[in-house]
Formats: sequence, C-alpha cells, structure tokens
Amino acid sequence: MSDMIDMYRSLKDHNKQLRAKYGVECPRCKECRPRAHPSILLPQQKCRVDGYRDPRPRLTPEEESTA
Ligand SMILES: [Zn+2]
Repeated sequence: MSDMIDMYRSLKDHNKQLRAKYGVECPRCKECRPRAHPSILLPQQKCRVDGYRDPRPRLTPEEESTA
C-alpha cells in the first residue's frame, strides 16, 4: 500500500520538475488577467482557464525522463 503512495509522490515530483523545466506561463492568462497568476503550461497542454493550447510539440519520452 505504501508503494502506491511512493509512486504517486514521485509522479508528483516528476511533474513539478517537468513544469519547472518546460512549463511556460500562459500568454492569454497574462493578457486577460495580468493581476492573476497565469497558468503554467507544458507543451500541448491546454489552459484550463481560457482554453489556450501551448503550440510547442509534445515532449519526447527522452525529454520527459530527463527532466
Ligand atoms: Zn490561460
């Protein structure tokens, strides 16, 4: 059972690293709501607030695993 939690935790850490390395602030959020925190988007990720999609190509598995 604790294995599941560890896996979940490392997945979350990995996502955090991915965002730190490849995440960009949503330009539409910055434009429309300059005083709010913009969403951080990974390549091809869609902003939940305004539907903007990051135009960069998806990360390759290598890029993802080296984050
Ligand atoms: Zn946005």
